[in-house]
Amino acid sequence: MSRRSIRFELTFWYSLIMALTLLIVGVAIERLAYNRISASIDNSLRQGAYAIINEVALLKGDVGAAMADTQGTSLNPPPWPPRYVQLLDTNMAVVYRSRNLGAFQLPVDTLLLRRLRSGMVIAPDMKLLDRERFRVITFRMRPVKGSPIGWGQVALSLHDLDRAKRKNRLALAFIIPGAIVISAVLGRWLATRALQPIEQVNRTARHIGATNLHERLAPRPVEDEVGRLIDTLNDLFERLEQNFIQINRFSADVSHELRTPLTIIQGEAEVALKPTAAPEEMRQALEVIVDEARRMSQLVRNLLMLARLESGQQRPQLTRLSLRPIVEDLAEEARYMASTKGLTLELGRIDDAEVLGDAVLLHQLGFNLIDNAVKYTPPGGVVALSLEVAATTARLSVRDTGTGIEPGELEFIFERFYRSARTRPLGEGGSGLGLSLVKQILEIHRGSVQVTSKPGEGSRFVIILPLERISRAGRREAGSSPIGERALS
Ligand code: ADP
Repeated sequence: MSRRSIRFELTFWYSLIMALTLLIVGVAIERLAYNRISASIDNSLRQGAYAIINEVALLKGDVGAAMADTQGTSLNPPPWPPRYVQLLDTNMAVVYRSRNLGAFQLPVDTLLLRRLRSGMVIAPDMKLLDRERFRVITFRMRPVKGSPIGWGQVALSLHDLDRAKRKNRLALAFIIPGAIVISAVLGRWLATRALQPIEQVNRTARHIGATNLHERLAPRPVEDEVGRLIDTLNDLFERLEQNFIQINRFSADVSHELRTPLTIIQGEAEVALKPTAAPEEMRQALEVIVDEARRMSQLVRNLLMLARLESGQQRPQLTRLSLRPIVEDLAEEARYMASTKGLTLELGRIDDAEVLGDAVLLHQLGFNLIDNAVKYTPPGGVVALSLEVAATTARLSVRDTGTGIEPGELEFIFERFYRSARTRPLGEGGSGLGLSLVKQILEIHRGSVQVTSKPGEGSRFVIILPLERISRAGRREAGSSPIGERALS
């Protein structure tokens, strides 16, 4: 990447545009002034020509003789601006030259004279005597009565005009480089001033690193481009910080939670490897190892899912879906899980409810609740499942006749890694993440949960989700009555 500063670019373009503007304006002004002066010179030439034509009109006979008569005095046009006059007879011979011409003779273009039957013509500017440029007007002369008696020429020096032009160019040659220098200095100052806030942002942003990710750029009092840049950067830092916290928390959680199963695996493996170990002992050790490994993989899976949901990395696919098939699937799983533990599954009403949700996540939510109900209910108990539509909400209820939850524990059960010491022997394989996932999934779906529980009698978890569309309720089976009185939402 080439190293070029915005300041340099701004200064460069500013100076260039300034120089070009000055050049264009300078040249345009010069052209305008030149054209004006040029037009006034033409006017002066015509005035001179008319003055002579008018005088000649009154003459009679040979113009040469007339000139000789008057010695040309009356034919001298007004002296200012100094005009040069030359008269020619019909043979194109010079018969009169104004005194200011001295010995010099104005050039005679015979071709032009022949073609000039009447009126006057201004020839292109010419350089005479290798000195100055002149402009010459040529005209036909004729008395009022009679045929043409010759031609007249009036010339004006362009010396003043050319000098003004030279001076102008000289001035431009000095002014433009000077202006470039001034605009470069000015441009640099302006660019520095304009970029100063960005420099400031740059310095502060560079200073923010992993150790002080909580710091933010100071907002600007005005809502300008830099202000918006600061807002964007602050948003970015916010997201970075959140992700950073998530990663740290994830690694801390993983290392903390994996320590116990890893110690168990190591201990059991050592037992199995003992030369004196009996085959039955080895088998038991391996079973424990497999159980712990399964628990670890479940834990890591849950943790990952939780971390992704919390950080927004896993974008939920929220679509309009019917909860009924999900609950029917869950019922199948619940039936199997309950039967393996000697529990009865009571299936209540399963209404048809449409919500805006992610099918995979909602399934996971239901599964976690059923898993807990099965885990924390001793054999012979009941697990009940129902889905009911009430007003504008769908209510998924998972009830059990298990150990129940102490009132003081209700506020903690949704926290990460919270596991009641009382239920720990029952909840083997649990990691304390099931209900945190439930909470996270509910947040995504704008749902809530109510928990009613009575220790020793059982618990009921009711998930409340806003309905997308209320369809006709389809009754499958009568529901059962709630147990506890305490609720958490
Ligand atoms: P885990 O079940 O893996 O321990 P959870 O987050 O799913 O973690 O649950 C947290 C705690 O809440 C459990 O340890 C248990 O004490 C309590 N709990 C959850 N569901 C029930 C239930 N149906 N009956 C009794 N206690 C429960």
